[in-house]
Amino acid sequence: MIDVNGRRYALPRAPIVVVCVDGCEPDYLDRAVEGGAMPWLGSARAGGTSLVGDCVMPSFTNPNNLSIVTGAPPSVHGISGNYFWDPQAGVEVMMNDPKYLRAETILARLAGAGAAVAVVTAKDKLRRLLGHGMTNGICFSSEKANETTEAEHGLADALAFVGRPLPSVYSADLSEFVFAAGVRLMETRRPDVMYLSTTDYVQHKHAPGTPAADAFYRMMDGYLERLDALGATIALTADHGMNAKTDAAGRPQVVYLQDVLDAWLGAGRARVILPITDPYVVHHGALGSFATVYLPAEARVEDALARLDRLPGMEAVLDRKEACRRFELPEDRIGDVVVVSERHTVVGTSAARHDLSGLDAPLRSHGGLSEQRVPVVLNRRTRLDPGARVRNFDAFDLALNRVA
Ligand SMILES: [Zn+2]
Repeated sequence: MIDVNGRRYALPRAPIVVVCVDGCEPDYLDRAVEGGAMPWLGSARAGGTSLVGDCVMPSFTNPNNLSIVTGAPPSVHGISGNYFWDPQAGVEVMMNDPKYLRAETILARLAGAGAAVAVVTAKDKLRRLLGHGMTNGICFSSEKANETTEAEHGLADALAFVGRPLPSVYSADLSEFVFAAGVRLMETRRPDVMYLSTTDYVQHKHAPGTPAADAFYRMMDGYLERLDALGATIALTADHGMNAKTDAAGRPQVVYLQDVLDAWLGAGRARVILPITDPYVVHHGALGSFATVYLPAEARVEDALARLDRLPGMEAVLDRKEACRRFELPEDRIGDVVVVSERHTVVGTSAARHDLSGLDAPLRSHGGLSEQRVPVVLNRRTRLDPGARVRNFDAFDLALNRVA
């Protein structure tokens, strides 16, 4: 057994594969199974475990991937977004650097205990966080599969190993490469533990049940079937859901918070941070349903809360303490106010700072409470505590400790 962040995990007796399907609103699986695109998943759910759980807030990629691999919420691991305001350094920065990570990962501890561990992630931005503390094992991204070395990634020339061309960072192929790598690894190296994490390029563009979404899930189903046939216990979950963020005419519904606050408090007095911000903005224009706001010293938080709450499309407007209590967030990485917009609305900074010219489909995004429901599926029956809230970050607990 190992103890990680206050939870105990059994060492694997047979290979386990935890899959984080980026942006997998539960409806994607339901529609794909109903439409015949996921025959394997349909039977795995029937004979195994099929639940809907909650991801962590904000419902973004980095906080949730780190929650899954630490088995803990952001208040423990510290990764509260893809992006944050570092008050000590006085700069807005990406949270990709492992120096922001405050907890050990289950992956590193399993590797340290002698398990063979392999991690494949679609985008390279997550690789160093996911692989942090792993002194042995394999960890690489599809995005940079052409640059891997034995010393740095535990596998030389991943491109040749997987036998597929290097995928574009904006493509369904980027995720397919992850699954293809997972199957190849299971066939050749048979790791005890694998973590596979995809990208939500398809989910940002295509709604559940559409031909492009079903094609993606059909692809995935084929690889999962092969992993199952190789004897793996598979635990599939998601980092967050995904919803249309548009009005009836298909136009983005955006509340530009920085513009609103500039009008109230004076230009640049408040600072709006969008934790969805990352270098890959083409498919969502850096618009999501969660923002945090740093107010100027003279502003009264209660006044700001009351005024923000009256804006259209708000689901929750909370002060720092309440937001951190309710959403399990680290107080030192959250502003004075947290704003969560409702299902079909996103929040931005200033209209001038969002380039929506790259959006070639109606805006779909995430970040809010409306994207908190995620699938939790295992190809094994599991022993669950009756009535317990299931979280995506229970995936390792389910696969290692609770298989019946
Ligand atoms: Zn994501």
